[in-house]
Amino acid sequence: MGYMCMRRKTRVVKIGSCLVGGDNPIVVQSMTSTDTRNVEATVQQILDLEEAGCEIARVAVIDQEAAQAIKKIKRRISIPLVADIHFDYRLALESLAGGADALRINPGNIGDKKKVQTVVKACQDKQIPIRIGVNAGSLDKEILRKYGAVCKEALVESAMENVKILEDMYFQDIKISLKASSVMLSVEAYRLMASKVDYPLHIGITEAGTKDRALIKSALGLGMMLNEGIGDTIRVSLTGNPVDEVWAAYEILRNLGLRNRGVELISCPTCGRCEINMIPVAEAVDQAIRTIPDPLKVAVMGCVVNGPGEAREADVGVAGGRGFGLMFRHGEVVRKVPEANMVPELLQEINRLREK
Ligand code: SF4
Repeated sequence: MGYMCMRRKTRVVKIGSCLVGGDNPIVVQSMTSTDTRNVEATVQQILDLEEAGCEIARVAVIDQEAAQAIKKIKRRISIPLVADIHFDYRLALESLAGGADALRINPGNIGDKKKVQTVVKACQDKQIPIRIGVNAGSLDKEILRKYGAVCKEALVESAMENVKILEDMYFQDIKISLKASSVMLSVEAYRLMASKVDYPLHIGITEAGTKDRALIKSALGLGMMLNEGIGDTIRVSLTGNPVDEVWAAYEILRNLGLRNRGVELISCPTCGRCEINMIPVAEAVDQAIRTIPDPLKVAVMGCVVNGPGEAREADVGVAGGRGFGLMFRHGEVVRKVPEANMVPELLQEINRLREK
């Protein structure tokens, strides 16, 4: 791949089998939307996420029953599992006992120092990292009062307070996230954070909205940060199926030359030269290729005049004619197919390439 971003130098943290930070590939994360106490549904969603390429899954642990579910879930999944906990240190301990590979908990919210120490000690014993997750929507009241409003300094100060609590207990297996629904606030906060510590950063734009909106916000926010070398794990968060988050994360990473998973679709906007009903063709191809992990380039072009040439870098493609389509490979036309067969024939070509 030609273009590569310069990564920020970070410490390496181990989350289960997954190495995060340093020169390790940027890791794709997601979070389940199921009730963690419903083990069946949660396992199924994590298996779906795994199949889509998700490398770390996070689950919300809201009570003891959810914490106890960790053990049952862990047995049936392959990717590392992060237990997301607010306030209650007992949930952290139970999750650790169940085999959680990391905790997302803010030590500042646990309260009593002894309780924090108990959690930190348990993490130290098992070499389990802690992700400090600061969220603009739940900033510490003291900090909010100090700054008067949510701002990058407030987010970073809140994270640093939590970092200090852990460092004072000689704990440095830390990952940090600073989430806000504003793209620019998130980017500025992460930039500031990156200038202060060398812990790996989990980046994302939170509460980013429904699918299309979240994709735009995430592509912008994550794109800017990744391009500056910031970010060791990423999550695209959207109101919808988390499997879509994983697909979108790989699209963002591929476009920046940082990971290379999945099929890239090149399709033209069509113009007055197009003589086929092209949008449904492109949509059908898009749907069919989304689950393919191979790094291929596939093109769907509106006309035979410019199509193959415009999509020269595609491994395989189809260009519309009048009632037919031309199949092409690397810009060279290989055969003619009836319009009605364009989609299945293109998919067949893709399968042939995958088998090679
Ligand atoms: Fe127009 Fe053909 Fe280019 Fe598509 S490939 S935009 S139909 S000229």
